[in-house]
Amino acid sequence: MPAAVSSVDPRRALVLFSGGQDSTACLAWALQRFAHVETLGFDYGQRHAVELECRLHVRHALRLQFPLWARRLGEDHLLDMTLLGQISDTAMTSERAIEMNAQGLPNTFVPARNLLFFNFAGAIAYRRGLSVLVGGMCETDFSGYPDCRDNTLKAMQVALSLGLDAPMVIETPLMWLDKAQTWALAEALGGDALIDLTIEHTHTCYLGEREELHAWGYGCGLCPACDLRRRGYEAWVAS
Ligand code: ZN
Repeated sequence: MPAAVSSVDPRRALVLFSGGQDSTACLAWALQRFAHVETLGFDYGQRHAVELECRLHVRHALRLQFPLWARRLGEDHLLDMTLLGQISDTAMTSERAIEMNAQGLPNTFVPARNLLFFNFAGAIAYRRGLSVLVGGMCETDFSGYPDCRDNTLKAMQVALSLGLDAPMVIETPLMWLDKAQTWALAEALGGDALIDLTIEHTHTCYLGEREELHAWGYGCGLCPACDLRRRGYEAWVAS
């Protein structure tokens, strides 16, 4: 995409980067656009702590394989958010089965987690001179998290810009994409190299399983996250 390369956006961005498929697509999206991109991860005692290792592998692989992006990729930040374990009791942070609650939300839901994450991201961005926050939230993945919705995040953008008294833009490139389209976005941004990197290094499985490599990547193959990732991959391959 030569046009995108020559018209680089001079703003500096901070990508909420978990090491999963979605946030890796967002990181590639940001690296293609912005002159300088930093990453932020949260350690909240999640079961799939293996994600935190995947983050570093993904960053390393991106640097090796995409020289332009390597020049733009800046510092990584990791925040200890284990206090979330104190205010939630869900399948993400304790040894319980994943099931739906009375509101139709999976019990992997940590209430308003993304709002908390964006508050911390805004504080770091302000300190680092970054003015764009990029997150992989999406309304089309059927999990129903209200803190992932477009209106929620537009309200968050306004609250942060006012509260910091500095322009802060929240970008959510996956908001209206389904999982098949997220694979297609990765292919458009980084071709086969980014697809292979996504399969090999990103992590999605709620159970932290990385024993078996499937066509779509590592995972137990059974949890809701694996199921969504597998179905998206298969739909993309078939398209
Ligand atoms: Zn799984």
